[in-house]
Order: sequence, then C-alpha cells, then structure tokens
Amino acid sequence: MTPMMKQYLEIKEHYQDAILFFRLGDFYEMFYEDAQTAAKELEITLTGRGQGEDRIPMCGVPHHSADNYMTQLIDKGYKVAICEQVEDPKMVKGVVKREVTKLLTPGTLMNSKLLSERENNFLVAIAVADDTFGVARCDLSTGESDVTLINGTLDDLLDEIATSRSKEVVAPFEVEELLNASFAHNRSMLISYRQYEEPLDEYQHLLTNIDHPVLQKAYYRLLHYLVETQKQSLHHLQQATFLSTDDYLKLDIHAKRNLELVETLREKKKQGSLLSVIDQTVTSMGGRLMRQWMDRPLVRPRAIRERQEIVEQFYHAFFEREALRDLLKEVYDIERLAARIAYGSVNARELVQLKRSLKKLPDIKAQLDSLAINKNWLQSIETYETLVHLLTNSIVEDPPISLTDGGILIDGYNEELDRYRDASKNGKQWIAQLEQQEREFTGIRSLKVGYNKVFGYYIEVSRANTHLLPEGRYERKQTLTNAERYITPELKEKEALILEAEESLTELEYQLFIDIRTIVQEYVPSLQKLATEISEMDVLASFAMVAEKQQYVKPNVTETRQIDIIQGRHPVVETVIQRGTYVENDIDLTDERDMLLITGPNMGGKSTYMRQLALSAILTQIGSFVPAKKATMPIFDRIFTRIGAADDLASGQSTFMVEMMETKDALTKATANSLIILDEIGRGTSTYDGMALAQAIIEYIHESIGAKTLFSTHYHELTDLAKSIPTLRNVHVSAAEEDGTVVFLHQIIEGAADRSYGVYVAELAGLPDSVTKRANELLLTFEAKPTNATQQHTVTHEEVAATYEEAEQLSLFQMKEEKKDGKTKKEQSVLKALQELDLLHVTPFDIIKK
Ligand code: ADP
Repeated sequence: MTPMMKQYLEIKEHYQDAILFFRLGDFYEMFYEDAQTAAKELEITLTGRGQGEDRIPMCGVPHHSADNYMTQLIDKGYKVAICEQVEDPKMVKGVVKREVTKLLTPGTLMNSKLLSERENNFLVAIAVADDTFGVARCDLSTGESDVTLINGTLDDLLDEIATSRSKEVVAPFEVEELLNASFAHNRSMLISYRQYEEPLDEYQHLLTNIDHPVLQKAYYRLLHYLVETQKQSLHHLQQATFLSTDDYLKLDIHAKRNLELVETLREKKKQGSLLSVIDQTVTSMGGRLMRQWMDRPLVRPRAIRERQEIVEQFYHAFFEREALRDLLKEVYDIERLAARIAYGSVNARELVQLKRSLKKLPDIKAQLDSLAINKNWLQSIETYETLVHLLTNSIVEDPPISLTDGGILIDGYNEELDRYRDASKNGKQWIAQLEQQEREFTGIRSLKVGYNKVFGYYIEVSRANTHLLPEGRYERKQTLTNAERYITPELKEKEALILEAEESLTELEYQLFIDIRTIVQEYVPSLQKLATEISEMDVLASFAMVAEKQQYVKPNVTETRQIDIIQGRHPVVETVIQRGTYVENDIDLTDERDMLLITGPNMGGKSTYMRQLALSAILTQIGSFVPAKKATMPIFDRIFTRIGAADDLASGQSTFMVEMMETKDALTKATANSLIILDEIGRGTSTYDGMALAQAIIEYIHESIGAKTLFSTHYHELTDLAKSIPTLRNVHVSAAEEDGTVVFLHQIIEGAADRSYGVYVAELAGLPDSVTKRANELLLTFEAKPTNATQQHTVTHEEVAATYEEAEQLSLFQMKEEKKDGKTKKEQSVLKALQELDLLHVTPFDIIKK
C-alpha cells in the first residue's frame, strides 16, 4: 500500500459515516465503498487505482465543480467530509499533510443552494434522563437555537422530533433502536449517534437561560456536533431560548399534517395549505417566522392579544401598512447575513446587501411612527448610521463575489491602495502609449504591443520588417512563424512596476476587506435583534393584509370555554372555489353543548366544517384574525384530529391501526380545554365494530374528558345518543334532491340528517346502474325495519353492504369473501384437494393437473 493510501485510510477511519472527498491536486478523489456510492448517486465513472487483485475502486470530481457534487450528496441524505491538503505540495517531500477541514451534513448547512429562503434548517439533538427528555434545536444558517423540556413518555419525545421539521438528529446510543424503528421510513431525516454531552466552556454563555441538566446535555450534544462538523468557532450562535411545551398549543404531527398547515396531505405542496393563504410576508425572515409561529401557536391570552393589537392597527392603516411592506420588500435576509458575517464567510456583495437594507431603516421607522404602534421593539429600531457610512464609503456598489481579485473597494477609501492603483494605472497607460511611440520611432506601421502569461509584455514585429529595427535596442524573446517578439529594458521595468502594484493591491484590498468585516462583526448581536424585529413586523403586517383582503375579523379571545363563530368559513376552501359561493356556517359550543355529532351525505361539507373550526382556533392562537363575521374563541391547549389520511398507507401501518392510535392519543391526552376532531371514526372496520367503538368513544369523551368535540359519522344510529348524552347535539349538512340527483347545500343545520344520500353519491361516482338500483330497493326494505345501534339486532351482510354510504367502500366490501371456519372457499377447496391426495401413487403431472 502506498503511503498516500495509508494516510487516506487513517483519515477515513474517523469519518465512517461520511463520504470522504480526498484532495489530490486539482481533484477530490473517493475510494472503496465511498467511490461506489458516489459513482452511483452522482452518475460519474467508477475507475480504479492499482492493478489486479489490489485494484481499489475510485472516482473523482474536479475541485472547481466539487460544490455541486457535494450538494447533490447532501440532498440525498449523505454526509460529506472534505479532506484538504494543508501543506504546499511544492514545499514538502513525500506525502502532503491532509486534514478534514469541514464535515457537510444536511442539518448544519451554512451556505448552500440547499437552504431554502423561507424555511429554517434545523439540527436537533436530544438527551435522555430517567423520566424527562431534552430537545435542543439550532439553525446554523441563522444562529437561532432553542431547547424544549419534555416531561413525558418516549412517545412525546418522538412526537417532538417529528414535529421539529429537522433534517438531522443527534442522539445518544441508548435510543438508537427506538429512533431507528420510529423513523426508518423517514428518509429525509438523518440520525447520528454521538455520546458526547460534557460542557464546553467556550460556549457557556449560550446556556444562561437553561438550568435543567437534561437540557444542558442536549444543548452540549448539539454544540459538540456543530464543532465536529464545522471545525471552527461558532460566534454567531445566539443564546438558546427556553421553550416550555406548556407555553404552546400542542399539535402532534398527525394534526399538523391532517390540517394541512404548511403543506397539503397528498402532494406535499405549500399551495393549498393554510400557510399559502396567510403567508403574505415580503421578507424571507418573515416567511421563516410565520412558519415558526404556525408550528407553535400561543396559549397565553396576553401574548395573543398583544399580537392582535398590532394586527388591528396595521389593519386600519392601509396606506402606512402597504408603504411599510413596500419598504420591507427591499430588505435582504439580515438574519442569515448576520450569521455569515459572524461566521467569517460573508463576501463584499453581501455587505452591499446589508447596507442597502439598513438604508431603508429611517423610512421604515418613519412609517412606524406615523402608525403610532406602541410596542417597544417598534420604537427601539436603530438606524445604524455609522455602519451605513462605513459600508457606503468603502465598498463599491457592484463588487465581485471573489475577495482575492480586487475591485472591491472604492477609490479614496485607503491612500496606500490608491497609490498602488495609480501605479498600476499609470504603468498601463504608459504601455498603451508605447505602441504609437514605437511605430513612429521605427516607422513600422504594423508594430504591436501585446501581453501573454509566459513572457509578459512584448513588442511584436512581422518578419518582413525586422530589418528596420535599429541595433542594440531590442532584445529578442520569442520567435513565431511570421513574426518576432522583443522586449526593451524600459518595458520590463514598467511591467515589473505594474505587476508589483497589482499584487500588492489585491493583497491589501483583501486585508482591508477583512478589517471591514471585523468591524461589522461587532454589530452582529444587534443585527440579529433587528432581524427579529423586522420579521415580526412583517408577519403581523401580513396578518393584517390578509385580514383585509379576505375579510377576516378579530376574534374575541375568552378565558371561558365558549366558542361562538358567526358565519365562519374555511380559510383555504373559500379561496379555491368560485368567489362568493362559499356557504358560511355558524358554530356555537359551550360547556352545556360541547359535542356535535355531524351527519349527512358524503361530500356534503362535514369535514370542511370541522377543519374550519380547528383552523380558526389555530389562526386565533397565532395572533391572526379569522374568516368569519364575528368570533369568540377560547384558548385550546391541544388540538387532536383523526381525519382519514392519505399518508397512512405510506407509513406501512394499517389504516385502522393508525386510526385507533390517533384516537388513543386524543383519549389519553385531551383535557377539558382541548379540541377533538374525529372524522368518521370506525370506518376502517366492520359496521358493528365501528359503530360500537364510535359510541364508546363518544361516551368516554363525555364522561371523562369534557373536551370540545366534533364527530362526523355515517352511522345514523348514533344520532340517538343525543337522548342519553345531554351535552351532545346532532347537526347535519343539508342536501336537496332535484330531479333524482343530490345538490349539496353545505349548510349546517341542527338535528340529525333524515337520510344518507349515499346511494346518490354512488350514482354520481358512476357505479353501474344495476348496483345503485338494487341498493335503492334494499334501502327501502331496511328503512321499513326499525334499527337502533343501542339495541341488539341482526343484520345480514347484504344489508350492511347496502347501508355503507361510500361508493368505494361498497366495492371494497364486494371483494371480501365469505368464510367458513375462518377459511375462504378457495382455501377450503385447496385443503380438500390436499387431503384427498394419495401420496404414494401420485406423480408430479397429477399435481399440476389438480
Ligand atoms: P364531507 O366531509 O361531508 O364528505 P367535505 O367537507 O369533504 O365533505 O366537502 C366536500 C366538498 O364540498 C369540499 O371539497 C368543498 O369543495 C365543498 N364544500 C364543503 N363545504 C363547503 C361550504 N361551506 N361552502 C362551499 N363549498 C363547500
């Protein structure tokens, strides 16, 4: 093995879970398994190093385009370790020293095409104590971090991880099995196991808000991992915020998905989600904050009202608000810029972006003053005159991205720099004039002055004219086919001056830029605060703008448990159907009337009505207005949803199992201050099972929880429950029959539905006429019989089939086979055939025939 391969293996040993990019001259090479993986994922050629049996798989990418390849690998969930040559190869004999200088991972991106502007990129670390868990979270690209204490079960921990929307998790080995089992299907989350959690003195100041040992451990695990990957100090990290799950409305991952808060259930697109309707922020910082607020609605009335007040002021001041929003559009991502400044990776172009943003501050302040909004942060905004002055008088308006090629600083910023620039300019001018002078002097009209990298400046004369040159003055340097190139001592002297000036110039300019950057670094904490203020302003102004455009109203937040929504709407559905066709519905719930059993035809609007309430509750608790004419809203501590979900199948669990697990969550965790939404519970099992479970669940919620509950069902029999449960009310979605077809009116009406219209929906879905005709006949016969879920009665399978209200369930049912002794007909006949076999005399051919 060559010394270099030995070096490779030594380094690789420390980076087992990453793909190692090993710098070899102008290439990064990968070897062994890394090479095989990279070649496959990047679609590049797999070659080899060495001969015969010792041949090592290898592939490589040029260093100047390596960024692109690394990005692709990280996007696919790999880690990439970048191993550089840390010595100048010209200066050493033997193998150049190499070190891993950075470990790129999905959760620790700092500067990457993969960072999405309007989304945070979180890394999560966890720590485990006896009965508590700590979850620490950080977005390296913005410097934000927080910690959450979980006093709960492992389930709660898993839920917190799932809802954290992070790309990467760092956890101790003791939970390896658990996490692997829970997130095996989630390929977009990378989990690394690391044991370290000892204090890091250098970063103690970040933990001032954290006194719980398990939180400290989680946070240190996070920091250790950041140090491991970044291999540099992390000055831009902001103090960790302590979050208590009690300060926020709890929404588990199912509820977040089912309610389509930030993306739709099926397509996973933002379009069609609640966020797409209410996020009208104009800065990327505002966009990120909007998501954060959506992830953590508030529960403290004062905090909610504080937001509401500002929204209200923005709401009433149309011109000032829109003028402010126009100004904010010109503000760049100060938060990520500040992080890059602190991190030392900001370039001149980005500092110009910062300057342009800061220049908007006096106008922004003026708009806020005219709005007379009384909140501290809105008045404390600084205008950074000194910083703007510095940046305006140092960096040109349109600097290059590269920091080492000059052209960054303006003339007059630094005398020494100006002198070098003059020298270089004068020299070049002298050369520009030289051509004319030499032509006149020699009388050769075709004489040229040129430059190339090898010989520098030269004078070129065509072969035919060389005899015209005077002796002694020109020194021949290069011979071409038809011409000769010469230099003169004077030319070389000027050339040396120019080159020297340019070299000093770029060096000095780089140094001066770094000095500016260091000065700007002192502003980082204050810029981070400014970023927070601007994002809040942006989100609140966006709430006001949406409230006005979509005609929302400020909900009256009560500390009682009363809900009273007049003419409420579903914020998303109303924007996707034809304007003006949305049918508004009231909802009125109190402690005396806290459960609604919703019946009525499929497609009638039951689930829209239920979601409408949940979404209005969330909007209220993030401080937004709500789609209604008038609204009084309580504060919910948790919202549970069980809504038939498209992603059940993808997770590999049976639909019914998922349904029951989500229901269990609601039944075990809900309080009287929770909202429970159960859509057609029990549909995943047989009618009797389903109906029995549904009834038992309703009774349990009534007796043991008292949460506000909306329950839709296609079991008409359940409507009788209103007789025995005083706080349960029947409502139904209205539908009318016109010429034998159903018209859905989407109106919620008190009382139980008189019929189900299921067969009509089946007709609409295009089921064969003979099926729907037969179903109608059966329906008539059933309706003649009294049925009551609370009484024992016998129903045949055919009857059950026909009472199924959904077309798809009808067809599903037909696929089920009748069983005898737990076996289908087919199974029975195979068994019988096997029993009848005479094994002593049978031939293979006989078996095939059977
Ligand atoms: P269900 O849950 O009863 O099967 P949905 O709530 O899914 O019915 O509603 C079906 C469709 O009817 C929705 O996609 C929507 O287009 C429309 N819809 C529901 N409620 C309303 C309403 N209040 N106004 C107008 N259209 C509505």
